[in-house]
Amino acid sequence: MLNSSEKIIPQLAAQLLSAQRIVVMTGAGVSAESGISTFRDSEDSYWSQFDPMTLASLDGFSDNPQRVWHWYQWRRQQIALARPNPAHVGLAHLQRRLPLYLITQNVDGLHQQAGSQQVCELHGNIFINQCVSVSCNYREQHQDNASDLITCPQCQQAYLRPGVVWFGECLAAERLEAADLASRDCDLFLSMGTSAAVYPAAGFAALAKQSGAQIIEINPAATPLSEHADWVIRAPVGSVFERLMPLLS
Ligand SMILES: [Zn+2]
Repeated sequence: MLNSSEKIIPQLAAQLLSAQRIVVMTGAGVSAESGISTFRDSEDSYWSQFDPMTLASLDGFSDNPQRVWHWYQWRRQQIALARPNPAHVGLAHLQRRLPLYLITQNVDGLHQQAGSQQVCELHGNIFINQCVSVSCNYREQHQDNASDLITCPQCQQAYLRPGVVWFGECLAAERLEAADLASRDCDLFLSMGTSAAVYPAAGFAALAKQSGAQIIEINPAATPLSEHADWVIRAPVGSVFERLMPLLS
C-alpha cells in the first residue's frame, strides 16, 4: 500500500490515462468540501432537535409531511449556496476525456453543476420531487419557490416528496444494477470521500476487486475499505484534484 507521498499524484495520473474503464464513487466527504454538512451533523439548532428518522423516513413524512417538507426546503437552500469544488470540476473534465463512470451517494447535484452529464445518483436527487403514492410515477424538477407542500398534479391524491432514498427504503433497482455492472466491468475503481461503510454502496469496490480492478481510495481518514485498497491517498479529495488536473491537461 502506498501512502500520500508527493509522487503518488503523478502515479494516479498515469493510472487514469492507462485504464480502460474507470469507476469513481463519491460520498459525503466530497460534498463536505463544498461546505455541505452531512445529514447527521447539522448545526442548525432548530432542526438538530429532531431525530433523522423523523425527517428522512416514510413514517416521518406520513406523521408530519409539512415538517419533513420544510426540512428538505431548508436543506435545498443550504445546498443552493454551495458550489462545486475542484474534485467535482476535475471529475467532470475527466468524464469528457476518459471512459469514466461516476457513481455518487450524494443527493446535491453538484457533479452535474460542475458539468458531469452522466451520474448514477444512488440515493436520488434532492431537487427532484416525486409522488409519495407508490401507484403514481409522477416526478418533476423542484422549483425554488415551492416552499409549501405540493399535491401531486397527476393523481391529485397524494403529496410530492423529495426524490431521495429515505431510511428503510431500497435503492432504485435500475441505478443499483447499473452501478453493479460498471463496478464488475472496470479495471480501475476510485473511492472518494466516503467511509465506504454503508451497503450496498460499500459492495461496489468489493465487486471491482473481485474482477481484478485496481482499487484506489482518496479520503482524509482510514475507512473499512482502506485495507482492501491497492493505494490509499490520505488527503482531502479537492486538494488531490488541484494537484492532479495540471498533469492531465
Ligand atoms: Zn401522484
